[in-house]
Amino acid sequence: MEILTYMTEYGYEQLIACYDRVSGLKALIALHNTTLGPALGGCRMYPYQQEDDAIVDVLRLAKGMTYKNAAAGLNLGGGKSVIIGDPRRDKTEALLRAFGRFVQTLGGRYYTAEDSGTSVEDMDVMRSETDYVMGLSTSGSSGDPSPVTAFGVWRGMKAAAGECLGDESLRGRTIALQGAGHVGFSLAQHLAEEGARLVVADVDGTKAERVAREFGAETVDPAVIHAVPCDIFSPNALGAVLNGRTIPELKCRIVAGGANNQLATEADGDELERRGIMYVPDYIINAGGVINVADEMQGQYNRDRAMKKAAAIHDNVRRVLAIARQEGIPTYLAADRLAEDRIARIGQLHQMYMPR
Ligand code: NAD
Repeated sequence: MEILTYMTEYGYEQLIACYDRVSGLKALIALHNTTLGPALGGCRMYPYQQEDDAIVDVLRLAKGMTYKNAAAGLNLGGGKSVIIGDPRRDKTEALLRAFGRFVQTLGGRYYTAEDSGTSVEDMDVMRSETDYVMGLSTSGSSGDPSPVTAFGVWRGMKAAAGECLGDESLRGRTIALQGAGHVGFSLAQHLAEEGARLVVADVDGTKAERVAREFGAETVDPAVIHAVPCDIFSPNALGAVLNGRTIPELKCRIVAGGANNQLATEADGDELERRGIMYVPDYIINAGGVINVADEMQGQYNRDRAMKKAAAIHDNVRRVLAIARQEGIPTYLAADRLAEDRIARIGQLHQMYMPR
């Protein structure tokens, strides 16, 4: 892969390859854009078969964080890291500490946090070597982000319902939940409290059953959850769930959920638009998690403050929908525009000299 050509095309700042002889650590850290502040993005651990796969993944994920952080109104840039290895087999204290040391060398240009394949406990280990890690298990840290993510998704759903269905209330609305994990369960609770009718599916049947038992939801086969007739289809499991196979089968007015990277391709975003289905861009509506962890940067973490900021996802969804309407563009492009405009506007401020 022509790395510098790729970085030039998509505006990346830096890609760091890390190797530690003692622990065997092989990792990559990508910084996409730090106009708004230090880059924040999790550390993924995955047994990539090819180095190029790891490079493409870390670059793609770092760029995604630039957009998510900017659109959420955070003073943070976008970055991400990957450790190449099997988290079940290759993870050792030495490896995690070696990674922490590399993060420290960046002097605060990059903050790491947990992601798939790493845990809060792993962040505690990295903390022995770096000041620039968030989401620790200690009190005063931000802890499990999923209740804040779910709260933000619920708020965003209401904004979308107001625009698309003419009423923000979800009472009596049918919502199909794909995934009843951390985010899905917590979201189901908000929706049930509001009086929504829930249909749920999870490949882990016990999780779907729990939502059925606690919130009176109906369970269906995971293979058909996207095709359930409903007002809102809410993906809270995996990525690329909106694709050429599923979109023709959707029977909803709105898609709004917490899962990352819901669109398999940009063309799928265009197709939803063509079919008159309102897609609420994933990184706008699921920003509660990053809003939660970023609150640690205010000094002492404060859950009430984080919740208040996550509540504003409602207004952010409205903003994106307004851009889409005014400019006649699909919502996923409107979200990108919101993020890019903020980066451009705030970036210009930096041209003015400020005595410190
Ligand atoms: P989780 O692992 O707790 O839950 C995911 C659930 O989806 C699991 O119960 C799993 O069994 C189920 N699942 C997997 N494949 C499925 C399928 N084909 N059909 C139905 N169910 C399926 O994860 P989570 O923390 O709840 O996160 C869910 C999604 O939201 C992920 O895409 C994650 O990246 C994204 N997200 C989470 C947060 C957060 O704060 N946890 C923040 C932002 C984005």
